[in-house]
Amino acid sequence: MGLPDSNSSLLSEDTVTVYVGRKRKKFHIHKALLCYHSSFFSKALDGLFKEHEDRAVYLPDDNVEGFVLFVNWMYNVPPQIASTPAAMMALLALYIMAEKFCIEELKNVSMDGVRASYRENFEFYTQEIEYIYDNTPESSPLRRFMADHLAYGPLVRKARMSKNFLQVMRRGGDFAADFASATVQYSFGAARPPNPTRESNCTYHEHKSSKTCSL
Ligand SMILES: [Zn+2]
Repeated sequence: MGLPDSNSSLLSEDTVTVYVGRKRKKFHIHKALLCYHSSFFSKALDGLFKEHEDRAVYLPDDNVEGFVLFVNWMYNVPPQIASTPAAMMALLALYIMAEKFCIEELKNVSMDGVRASYRENFEFYTQEIEYIYDNTPESSPLRRFMADHLAYGPLVRKARMSKNFLQVMRRGGDFAADFASATVQYSFGAARPPNPTRESNCTYHEHKSSKTCSL
């Protein structure tokens, strides 16, 4: 994160165009603001990538609604609690983008939003699990939260596993392993296991570049 010099502003007239998604939704964003928040964009716009020539960045594989949340966050509008499946996917996409754009604070902000949303509404869709596991590394706090959250539900709320959920489990892979591990932890750990959506905010944060939690 590089601060601009005293004579320039994060909202200076210099803008870049970011094209998001397969249909290339166009966003005009202040260049200094993008580079201030994200080393991914400052590298892209400093000429390390071919996008430099036409002052544009192309993100064909990213989620447009999630990118809208990212832009809003840069302009000081935090993400709201997701109350629809599409809004939840956008929030998950925001987390995944924060990882790609190297913005630790935004990862933590979006994690808080994901947890608050599942706290309001426990229901989840299998595509949310698949989306997380297809787009995050093994050590991701988002994976850890999702596995904990889904292990906590059946054990504590005595909720039944849906047919769709069992289908995801039958496919095996990382999610099945994480879910089994979280279930064992909840079964044999604390007498009254903590609710992952109500744990302290910092439990699922990442603080590799920030020394203390500011959220
Ligand atoms: Zn924290």
